[in-house]
Amino acid sequence: MTNTTLAMNERLQRYLVENTVREAAVLARLRQLTAKMPQASMQIAPEQGQLLQLLVRLIDARRCLEVGTFTGYSALAVALAMPGDGRIVACDVSAEWTAIARRFWAEAGVDSRIDLRLAPALATLDGLLADGHGSSFDFAFIDADKTNYVAYYERVVELLRPGGLLAVDNVLWGGDVADPTVQDTETNAIRALNDRARDDARVDISLVPIGDGLLLARKRG
Ligand code: CA
Repeated sequence: MTNTTLAMNERLQRYLVENTVREAAVLARLRQLTAKMPQASMQIAPEQGQLLQLLVRLIDARRCLEVGTFTGYSALAVALAMPGDGRIVACDVSAEWTAIARRFWAEAGVDSRIDLRLAPALATLDGLLADGHGSSFDFAFIDADKTNYVAYYERVVELLRPGGLLAVDNVLWGGDVADPTVQDTETNAIRALNDRARDDARVDISLVPIGDGLLLARKRG
């Protein structure tokens, strides 16, 4: 027993996945296909996908937003967790990766719930704000280029409704955030995001050490 966060090891990780993750067959197939790609580590872990689904259901999210879609696992997980009238705006710049995503969204029968925007995400987010969609999204997930994390965060918090929830992936960055000898641009960008959220009076936060670290931020009313 411990009252600090448990250090994960391979055996415990396997137990977690094998004994607590219920993954839809279509999600498992997408994960297995993506795992063979050179960029496989960009995909979220299945236990993270399940947590996103739980959160979406908890707050009955119907208007969702994603920054960084890759091959579509997280958007698919969110889409499957929403009711039929739910919609997720998915932002990515890669036509190649999102072609895989589209195939699996269609196969799962939820492609009509996913509004893919192939453009730099900052432009899409600014466009949503300019079009009057501020304070309207229930749930958002950020998992994209780390150097823009704070810029994405600022826009997404504006786009969330009061009570809306944001999840940000990779906030522990393989442990590098806690290593002061690591001073590269990406690691510092993630530190800046964690500091910004901690000091942001607009949100309640919790850093959940699942996968590579998932920061949760709830917009206050
Ligand atoms: Ca990630």
